[in-house]
Amino acid sequence: MEEERGYEEERRKLMEGLRAQGISKEVSEAMMHVKRHLFVPHHLVDQAYGDSPLPIGEGQTISAPHMVAMMCDYLELKKGEKVLEIGAGSGYHAAVIAEIIGEEGHVYSVERIHWLIRLSGENLKHAGYMHVTVMQGDGTLGLPEHAPYDKISVTCAAPDVPPPLLEQLKTGGKMVIPIGRYRQELYLVKKTNGVEKERKCDVIFVPLVGKYGFH
Ligand code: SAH
Repeated sequence: MEEERGYEEERRKLMEGLRAQGISKEVSEAMMHVKRHLFVPHHLVDQAYGDSPLPIGEGQTISAPHMVAMMCDYLELKKGEKVLEIGAGSGYHAAVIAEIIGEEGHVYSVERIHWLIRLSGENLKHAGYMHVTVMQGDGTLGLPEHAPYDKISVTCAAPDVPPPLLEQLKTGGKMVIPIGRYRQELYLVKKTNGVEKERKCDVIFVPLVGKYGFH
């Protein structure tokens, strides 16, 4: 079976490409451990180590590896952190975060589509990530029961920063979030005494749909 292949060589090449684009050693080494082929649909397994997004069904996508890597680098994730992800999708991005923060940390990922909650949960279990919890809900409301979070990673595009996410971020914490409907930009948001928003680059994400998202 395809899945029994390790794809180590393909993964190594992809990581070399990411390093050449300026991705940190820490993030690329962590990604070397995450088997992306376990998170893509079976018929696309041979494309798992290309640096592009892939469809996972119903118009949703697994992000491109360089985008996952960049977002992790901007967050400056540390061992033991508690991270909130909005949009579990395939579970791949959550797995990369989980790999970086280690088993002493925890990832909570909120997903609105039921079958993706099941899919991401199964993929994460299969890949061996037990310190990720996928929950059903409207991620624009965050996940107050486990707040506050050290870091928040939003993997779909919002009209603006949803106020509940800012509230649930620790002071000193960081959030990455794509903002915009047609022309989207990735922002790094730092919560200090106030809020600093730094524009990073143009991006393309599926929309964040919810109370503080698009309708
Ligand atoms: N991180 C994913 C990529 C997900 S694509 C991966 O690595 O595969 C974006 C996801 O956000 C989709 O699964 C979509 O269903 C989800 N989404 C959109 N609006 C949402 C909301 N309000 N709350 C939770 N999830 C949402």
